[in-house]
Amino acid sequence: MSEDKVKILVVEDEASIRKFIAINLERSGFEVLETDNGEAALEMASSCKPSVMVLDVMLPGIDGFEVCSKLRVTIPGLIIIMLTARAQDIDKITGLELGADDYMVKPFNPRELIARIHANLRRAEAMKTSGNTPLSYKNLIMDINSQKFFKDNLEIELTPTEFSVLKLFMSNVGRALSRNELFNSVWGKNYFGDLKTLDVYIRRIREKIEENPSKPQYIETVWGFGYRWCDK
Ligand code: CA
Repeated sequence: MSEDKVKILVVEDEASIRKFIAINLERSGFEVLETDNGEAALEMASSCKPSVMVLDVMLPGIDGFEVCSKLRVTIPGLIIIMLTARAQDIDKITGLELGADDYMVKPFNPRELIARIHANLRRAEAMKTSGNTPLSYKNLIMDINSQKFFKDNLEIELTPTEFSVLKLFMSNVGRALSRNELFNSVWGKNYFGDLKTLDVYIRRIREKIEENPSKPQYIETVWGFGYRWCDK
């Protein structure tokens, strides 16, 4: 079993914090790689192929934002959990252009970080193993096995979390899903985040799949309740 350890790359320039995270992850059975800068993070993400990256925002040189947006394009399946000390970074982290899967505000309890890593891994695993039949709707196709999403036969890059949210919609065409139901299905009941995170993801998915994100044709808002995948 030991050779099946999940590999996590911890990117943080403050050695004491990095070691603290690394020790806790190792104790939880992960294989941990470390680096203190963004350049090395980019290099190691492709050469060492970690499943998860724990990525601090504030780094010398290339910062965490830039690392995240670059990797989102080059390695879309990598789970990226960002660390920030500033509340104002959160909008940027969960914002459209960046696409981190999750974030933690420092200082945090390492158990919470580990819980989120497990939740993200479970979600990614569930996507790989659940069913072989591609989901399709009009000009959209979701291939569960390869975790690829196509519109008009052109691939649209989605993060693992975006893929999960979209999969839930495409498995429930025409059904109104409450924000709570959506949130719990994707992030899990024990997740510490709030419902605003969901709205940010919906906005981001609309930007990617809708012709006109302000007049969505696929994901409709059900005011005061949640969202519905349109069945017209
Ligand atoms: Ca730092």
